[in-house]
Amino acid sequence: MSGFPVTYAERIKTLPPYLFAAIDDMKQQAVARGVDIINLGVGDPDLPTPAPIIERLQEAAADPAHHQYPSYDGMLSFRTAVANWYKKRFHVTADPKSEVLTLIGSKEGIGHVPMAFVDPGDVVLVPSPGYPVYPVAASFAGGTAYEMPLLKQRGFLPDLDAVPRDILKRAKLMYLNSPNNPTSVIADVTFFQRVVDFAKEHHVIVCHDAAYSEIFYDGRRPPSFLEADGAMDVGIECHSLSKTFNMTGWRLGFAVGRKEVIAGLGKVKSNVDSGVFQAIQEAGITALKLDDQLTDGLRTIYQERRDVLVAGLTSLGLTFAPPSAAFYVWIEVPEGFTSTSFTAHLLENAGIVTTPGNGFGAPGEGYIRMTITTSQERLAEAVDRMKNVGW
Ligand SMILES: *Cc1c(COP(=O)(O)O)cnc(C)c1O
Repeated sequence: MSGFPVTYAERIKTLPPYLFAAIDDMKQQAVARGVDIINLGVGDPDLPTPAPIIERLQEAAADPAHHQYPSYDGMLSFRTAVANWYKKRFHVTADPKSEVLTLIGSKEGIGHVPMAFVDPGDVVLVPSPGYPVYPVAASFAGGTAYEMPLLKQRGFLPDLDAVPRDILKRAKLMYLNSPNNPTSVIADVTFFQRVVDFAKEHHVIVCHDAAYSEIFYDGRRPPSFLEADGAMDVGIECHSLSKTFNMTGWRLGFAVGRKEVIAGLGKVKSNVDSGVFQAIQEAGITALKLDDQLTDGLRTIYQERRDVLVAGLTSLGLTFAPPSAAFYVWIEVPEGFTSTSFTAHLLENAGIVTTPGNGFGAPGEGYIRMTITTSQERLAEAVDRMKNVGW
């Protein structure tokens, strides 16, 4: 039992608790009090992985060829399936050998990119509010995150011209995320084109997070960053099967883009992990090949849910832009509330878990995020409860 005192490294001592872990604690306390919780907090698809993907895994798992260490970069057959999917979906050409890398979920790749390119003193530009991994990954590599605020008056897109000159000189890497978590905003190719020009001018590597590109509404498919002219010269796009195919538990993603950036990320990874179980990559090939056959039905379900929640929130008089992609509704808190107090109000009085906007960065103050990864009935019930408790 006894021993020397364990002291944590500076890089983790200063970390806030991972956002969703803190919310989970709040939720557990409510569950312990016997509250019937409606969880609109975490963006984890509630529906199962489509059957053909599971069947392919079962078959591939029995094949001894997959029982040894996989290749570091991922199976060439999986990377080829990724390249084919990029061609079909985005009309983007990528060489599977040098411009595609298999990831253990896209979070893993996003988290490791700064290790390859950021030195102490370097700056990483991050959208804020944003996925908490971006600033933390920057600081793990010894860099400093500079927050680019996503504000309503700019359509929640970062203002590249507002980045100060001294920051630009030190900027090495920029994260972007469209469709966006938490705002659900889609960036268009015109915006991406400005990003490419900016990156070339200031020698900033771009890491675009496209985890939600296949969760879209009204048939309007969001573009890839790599569709902008010259994007392949400035960075990579990290992608994932998690949200698209209800595979968050499987841990399978990929990066596509400039080969030196892919190579740098691959070099970091080969020193800390040993790749993705090949049977999972085999199942990923099936997913990417079947694509819309598996996802059209899922999108219909999300669209119905979005419509229920949007109509309900509108009837309650809340202010928000109906999402055109992703799982999230980014809602302004009513007069007299903060992000934290409105989240607490909904949890304590209505048994609804939401995410306080300030948890995604200071510019998220004044907002909460709700997800649609729960059934239409539960979403309708959440709206009823909100109507009853008021504010
Ligand atoms: C869910 C999510 C991811 C990725 O998840 P993986 O399961 O690691 O692929 C990446 N970025 C954002 C913004 C997300 O919300």
